[in-house]
Amino acid sequence: MKPALLSYHCATSIEDAVAALAAAGGDGKIIAGGQSLMPMMNFRLVRPSVLVDINRIPGLDTITLRGNRLGVGALVRHRMTASDETIRSHIPILHGVMQHVAHLTVRNRGTFVGSLCHADPAAEMPMMTQFLNGTVHVAGPQGRRQVAVGDFITGSLTTDLASDEMVYEVDLDTFPEGTGWGFHEFARRHGDYALAAVAVTLEREAGVARRVRLAVMGLDDRSRRLAEVEAALEGEAPDAAVLDRALAALQANITPNGDLNASPEYRRHLANVLAKRAIADAWARAGERSRT
Ligand SMILES: Cc1cc2nc3c(=O)[nH]c(=O)nc-3n(C[C@H](O)[C@H](O)[C@H](O)COP(=O)(O)OP(=O)(O)OC[C@H]3O[C@@H](n4cnc5c(N)ncnc54)[C@H](O)[C@@H]3O)c2cc1C
Repeated sequence: MKPALLSYHCATSIEDAVAALAAAGGDGKIIAGGQSLMPMMNFRLVRPSVLVDINRIPGLDTITLRGNRLGVGALVRHRMTASDETIRSHIPILHGVMQHVAHLTVRNRGTFVGSLCHADPAAEMPMMTQFLNGTVHVAGPQGRRQVAVGDFITGSLTTDLASDEMVYEVDLDTFPEGTGWGFHEFARRHGDYALAAVAVTLEREAGVARRVRLAVMGLDDRSRRLAEVEAALEGEAPDAAVLDRALAALQANITPNGDLNASPEYRRHLANVLAKRAIADAWARAGERSRT
């Protein structure tokens, strides 16, 4: 199928894009990479009357380190995120995660921020924004505002963005030297959306894990950090007994969905297997060298 009739506006600035959205009276859509929007328009699942193209707005394709935070502009493509040296050295888990995202052609166009705005519960970028305490920078007719990612993603494919607002940047935590990380996902084919995934970071101090983060994705309507699992690992070396407690906490705090691809029981099984692998990798990486 092809999209329904629409008009097209090529924005020259953030303010111009926001004005075009406002003029569309709630019926406009930003297009960034188009990798999720175009299929949805072709199937007529969305029918905007105006497409606001942000690809020509200068200055949105930058990755900027500011102290212990990293800003990712609205036109940073997956290809850039996957190969950027600042990300590789300051957020090595994000570098690792990006190797799982889609295929070359999709990565050349798709944007980190576009994926966040699309808010697919099985997508890696919203998960990483959660995991890295992301702050979402939003521009609208009334000015600019910042939203914590936990308030930005409100459910599967839904966000708190108004119809006349756009996201121009998201900023993320970086990690100190020595942080270990692990990320495992299961997808039917490489580059497909994951049926389940687990991300872990930790530091290793005097033989125990500190500042543990653990998040899951693909199990229900959004990715989330699991504080109870993090607490089970915090201050411990992940031996068999600690792992058993952590996995019990994991199972107690997830409610996986069933669909055509996997039953809830199968997703539960995947969550355990992937968590074990991610914890083991994070522990080994923290121990063997400071950064990978
Ligand atoms: C074959 C294929 C495989 C894929 N595999 C994966 C995968 O394994 N993992 C994964 O995570 N993703 C995958 N994707 C999705 C891909 O990552 C998309 O690039 C991403 O979901 C959307 O980014 P985009 O820049 O293309 O956004 P678009 O498609 O342009 O937009 C998506 C939505 O976000 C809105 N939007 C975009 N940018 C902004 C902005 N700055 N401000 C406000 N709203 C905005 C749009 O209006 C639209 O509603 C796949 C896609 C395809 C086609």
